[in-house]
Formats: sequence, C-alpha cells, structure tokens
Amino acid sequence: MKIDILTIFPDFFRGPLDFGIIRRAQEAGLAEIAVHDLRQFTHDKHRTVDDRPFGGGEGMVLKPEPIFESLEALAVAPQSERRSGEARESVILLSAQGRRLDQALAGELSGLQRIVLICGRYEGVDERVGQFLADREISIGDYVLSGGEIGAAVIVDAVTRLIPGALGNEASARQESFTAHPPVVAGEGPSSTCSSGGLLDYPHYTRPADFRGMTVPQVLVQGNHEEIRRWRRRTALEKTLRNRPDLLAQAALSKEDQEILAGIAQDKLS
Ligand code: SAM
Repeated sequence: MKIDILTIFPDFFRGPLDFGIIRRAQEAGLAEIAVHDLRQFTHDKHRTVDDRPFGGGEGMVLKPEPIFESLEALAVAPQSERRSGEARESVILLSAQGRRLDQALAGELSGLQRIVLICGRYEGVDERVGQFLADREISIGDYVLSGGEIGAAVIVDAVTRLIPGALGNEASARQESFTAHPPVVAGEGPSSTCSSGGLLDYPHYTRPADFRGMTVPQVLVQGNHEEIRRWRRRTALEKTLRNRPDLLAQAALSKEDQEILAGIAQDKLS
C-alpha cells in the first residue's frame, strides 16, 4: 500500500513513522510512505502556503494552489473515480468536521492501494480542497487539534497494522477491541482465543504471576483452554459494559454472551 502525506511540517513525521509495526511494514515493502512538503509547490520567494480568509475573521487559511499542485504531481485518480469507488485510492482531508475514524473505517482504508492524507493547519484548509480534490474528510475525534499531522499519524498507524502481513501474528488483529467482523484467514481452523466481535479486548497478563502481591487470575495460569476462552469472553463483556456500553448494541453477541450478560446483571442485583 502506498501512503502519501501532504504537510507544511514534514519533519513532524521523523519519529512516528520510524518505529515498530510501521517501520517493519515499510522495510517489508507492505507500506510505502512518503511525506511531501507543501512549500515545495509554492512559487513565491517566501514559499507562502497560507492567506487571510475572504470575508474577514480570525487566523489564516491554507491556500488551495500548493495542495492541488502537489496532488497533481502524485498523479492520483480523478475525484469522480475515487468517489465512485472505481479507483482503489482515496484522498483524505484531515478535518475536525469529517467522519469520525473507527476500526471499520481503518479496515476499509487498509484494503485500498493508495491513500493520500492532507494535513490542515491554522483555521483550516480552503474549502475547495474538500469540495473538488479530496474524496473524504476524516476526524480522529470530537476535539480540535492544531493541525492534521497527529491525525495523519493516527490513520497511518491504525491502517498499516491491518495490512495483511504487517502484524507478526494475524490472529491478534482479529481479537482486538472493536474488531466487528474478523477477516477469515484461509486454511485456519477455529482460534482458541475469542475474537472481539465488536467488544473491547479482554485483559492481558504476562510474567511474573505474582508481582508485589498482585496476582494473575488463576484460570490463566492453570491452562484449561475452554475455561480461558470463557474467562476472556466474560471479562471482555464486563469491560465493555463498564467502559463502552454503547458498543454492546452493535456487537455480535452469541447465546453464551447473552447468558454471561444476564449473569453479570444478576450479580449486580444481589
Ligand atoms: N477551524 C477548524 C474547525 O473549527 O473545525 C479547525 C481547524 S484546526 C485548528 C487546523 C487543522 O487541524 C484542520 O484543518 C485539520 O486538518 C486538523 N484537525 C483539527 N482537529 C482535527 C481532528 N479532530 N481530526 C482530524 N484533523 C483535525
């Protein structure tokens, strides 16, 4: 997958793209990430990328010309093809006003051949970029950041780890929090661990089994796979109910899950 980032602060990405799974995915040729400096697409001696807003008001706005020109240099498919889904490419404007990023959207993007991420700054980006150039706007949450760079790094991370082969252990992506419809891996039998099914992940422990008197649940130490599976499902349900009850409405709940939830409700009453 190819990922291009358009920004006025290219140095921002020196750290975030150089570690762990993102670095390994690049080394393995699974992700090719390029950062482009929007100032290289300016034509005045001050390399101006922003200007005052029409109609007056606070702050500066990123000008359209450098963004349009940098995208033309990347030779991506026309907006109409991208919008219709004919092209396996997407040009994404980072914006607090965009569709909120979630695991399903990250999964959708990971299936594309190329994404281009446009990072706004100041009061934002000239509206014509969202209207005539990008095919979607994405927000990473309901708060306002100073620029799109952190959002772009978040998208690169969430998307890259879903590219097949990017995680050493494919099963771990399927059982993670929010994973609603785990992808089927050809030739693989049922997993001994439970898939998330749209819930939060279950708790994880490692050695030592007793750390300063804080002990690992016995069921995990004893090694009975069926009991471990049930314990993981129950704790995932408990945690989701406690921290994100909204997820339960859309989660794929089995008969066993319903029984566990009824048991949790019963325990609360007694
Ligand atoms: N005036 C804009 C508004 O009220 O929506 C905020 C502009 S913000 C200070 C500057 C840039 O940061 C935006 O153009 C966008 O690229 C980025 N940004 C801010 N919040 C974001 C969020 N929640 N998700 C993604 N990008 C964000």
